[in-house]
Amino acid sequence: MLANVKKQIHHVSQLKNINQNILNVIEKPVNKIEVNFPVKINNSIEIFSGYRVQHNNYFGPFKGGIRYHENISSDEVNALSQLMTYKCIIQNIPFGGAKGGLQIDTTKYNGKEIEDITRAFTKALYPYIGSNKDIPAPDVNTNSTIMDWMTDEYNNISGNFNSTSNMKSVFTGKSIDFGGSYIREEATGRGVAMMIKHWAKRNNYKLKGKSFIIQGFGNVGYHTCALLHSFGMNCIAVGDHSGYLYSKEGFNVFNLKEYTQNSKSIENYEYGEKISKDDFFKLKCNILIPSALELQITSENVSTIDCDLIVEAANGPIEIEAEKVLEEKNISIIPDILANSGGVLVSYYEWLQNKRDEYWYEKDIKDKFDKKIETTFNEMYTLSLKENISIRDTCLLYSFNKLESIFKKKHTV
Ligand code: NAD
Repeated sequence: MLANVKKQIHHVSQLKNINQNILNVIEKPVNKIEVNFPVKINNSIEIFSGYRVQHNNYFGPFKGGIRYHENISSDEVNALSQLMTYKCIIQNIPFGGAKGGLQIDTTKYNGKEIEDITRAFTKALYPYIGSNKDIPAPDVNTNSTIMDWMTDEYNNISGNFNSTSNMKSVFTGKSIDFGGSYIREEATGRGVAMMIKHWAKRNNYKLKGKSFIIQGFGNVGYHTCALLHSFGMNCIAVGDHSGYLYSKEGFNVFNLKEYTQNSKSIENYEYGEKISKDDFFKLKCNILIPSALELQITSENVSTIDCDLIVEAANGPIEIEAEKVLEEKNISIIPDILANSGGVLVSYYEWLQNKRDEYWYEKDIKDKFDKKIETTFNEMYTLSLKENISIRDTCLLYSFNKLESIFKKKHTV
């Protein structure tokens, strides 16, 4: 994935003049942290490896999710941390980019073991994170429960319980009881769906009655589906780590959510026809939403993709070689650094509430969020038309220009 991000940057640097100093700054993260720590599991000691990559902090403390996955690598976390830098800049949030990862197959451990591993991981990360230093959040296979454990463990170590607001603001994506914010859980998916709405508006594209297919039915995937359903759209195929399902009539995404809450996957769901991953990517639909993992649309499967728009709810799902083919096919793309930036936006709101010891009303947050998503989307879309480049290239160019303005203030060259 790191190679793909590098190629994306190389691509925009071929189209537009980018300051070489900025290309040098973004090439390497500020800090790459690897922690290896022991946890007692079933009377034996297992060593776990975790990563935190702090990419850039020109605009504020490092910020980014923590992913639990068996295939996580330092390079992947590095690439994801870089994308966080751009997301915060695009949304004009005073944070820098970071990302974390723990190498773990979560299916192999029970709830108590995951809690022990999470607390040990927090201890290992303790010196490197903090409410004005680096603020983690949930990502793949992590959620508000894990953020609550991390917050609790951080407080246990610091022993600083009186300063509640500061202590809560070390992590975002917590449960409401632990100082979380309304709409944080749905924020990324809500942002994805709102971006689709604004793209449709700019393209005179009626969403009602249109179809979509989605890969990944976790936090982001489900909340995206729920809002698209409210726009009158129809989910005709869905996939997750257990397989793929197709339904000509469309799925009731609320029933599917209820099912996955118990079963933890879409496997054996009673509706829909089982299809292969290859067939999923061959389906004719209006909008395709990768919402799981990176590098899913590649030169192998791109030729059969048949849709009007691809929205990268996941980070890095399109290989750059495939992107060129999509461009030739006139398929529009809303890139990850714009499409899924709603998550970090509400994380920022959560951090602000914690810092100020405030609790904002749900409706106020929703209104503020929706307005910001609209403004950011339109700003990037208009700029892409003006520069005559893709939305991804525009977002990167915009980020590089912002970084350059700070670079010039920091260094005399
Ligand atoms: P999640 O763990 O809640 O859900 C992940 C989904 O992907 C699950 O349905 C899972 O079954 C599916 N999946 C996993 N491996 C798969 C595979 N090999 N093939 C097909 N499906 C697979 O995670 P999430 O928070 O919904 O994150 C999804 C994507 O969105 C990730 O790329 C993440 O980085 C990105 N993202 C998440 C947030 C957030 O706030 N959670 C914010 C920005 C970006």
